[in-house]
Amino acid sequence: MDIIVLKPGASASDLRQIIKKLEHRGFRANISKGTERTVVGVIGDTTKITEDESNAFASMSGVEKIHRITQPFKLASRDFRSNDTSIRIGKHTIGGRKIQVMAGPCAVEDLPTLLHIAKEVKKAGAAFVRGGAFKPRTSPYSFQGLGEEGLKILAEVRRQTGMPVVTELMDPRDIDVILKYADVIQIGARNMQNFRLLQEVGSHDKPVLLKRGLSATIKELLMAAEYIMSQGNNKVILCERGIRTFETATRNTLDLNAIPVLKKLTHLPVLVDPSHGVGRWDLVAPMARAAVAAGADALMIEVHSKPEEAESDGEQSLKPGKFSALMKELRAVAKAVGRTI
Ligand code: PEP
Ligand code: MN
Repeated sequence: MDIIVLKPGASASDLRQIIKKLEHRGFRANISKGTERTVVGVIGDTTKITEDESNAFASMSGVEKIHRITQPFKLASRDFRSNDTSIRIGKHTIGGRKIQVMAGPCAVEDLPTLLHIAKEVKKAGAAFVRGGAFKPRTSPYSFQGLGEEGLKILAEVRRQTGMPVVTELMDPRDIDVILKYADVIQIGARNMQNFRLLQEVGSHDKPVLLKRGLSATIKELLMAAEYIMSQGNNKVILCERGIRTFETATRNTLDLNAIPVLKKLTHLPVLVDPSHGVGRWDLVAPMARAAVAAGADALMIEVHSKPEEAESDGEQSLKPGKFSALMKELRAVAKAVGRTI
């Protein structure tokens, strides 16, 4: 027993009784109110529920049916919620007909540079600006990000452009400072299975952009989303950003399969990051077009006005002019698949 589907006319008191009974048994309830029905997700080790107990729940007032989910991820699964989740951020929605684009440098470097890039990508049609203030670098000697100073720069860019900002959280100890400035919290590929970090962002209601780990399976990505959702935060955007394979021609292998696979398995929006997927600026455009054609709900693209001087990931960053040209192409692809961008 994983999901309790209520009758359309179930009362608030019916729901309270169900929650009480679940909590008495050591479970928690995740309530999802749809337009017609309320669905209660049972949080905890549901394999311990016996057939008799399940029948007892089924006979409670207001209960229409009990549903088992065979997947190990529950709240993230399509069985739990058949309609696509859409996440409202400011005046934008992620997970709808419109494909949202997040763009900006890998790292926040200084205010004039970020502001210039943000204005350029906004003009080209991006709604969100991205930039890391805490950078997960392979070498401890590489630029590690500006920390809170970088977050302040992001907030100033949001103030001047109106664009919501996306930035990475690497350490649960920085949650308060991130919550103060970010509109979307990014969990980087290297932290996809940092379970304490996932639980931390799960206990707030800020949208989370969860990047797939370097060698994580789709199931592991969904289990990581489940960690966040099980704490009560349903605003999770899944990100395909390329995985490690035997291929060395590109930085990673962008797993385009993941897009339609995820769209089948989960109701959560799927964002594709072709920049980290390929690691070379000249390959970003074709993979961005392919991602849109394959059904991505959003894109994240690294853009820098002077890639050759960027503190990180300059080799995969598009210049604003190239980004703008790409956006024009993406509009045509989106139209062909019944979307807008
Ligand atoms: C990034 O977005 O700049 C980044 C570090 O991404 P990832 O975690 O996917 O490597
Ligand atoms: Mn980067």
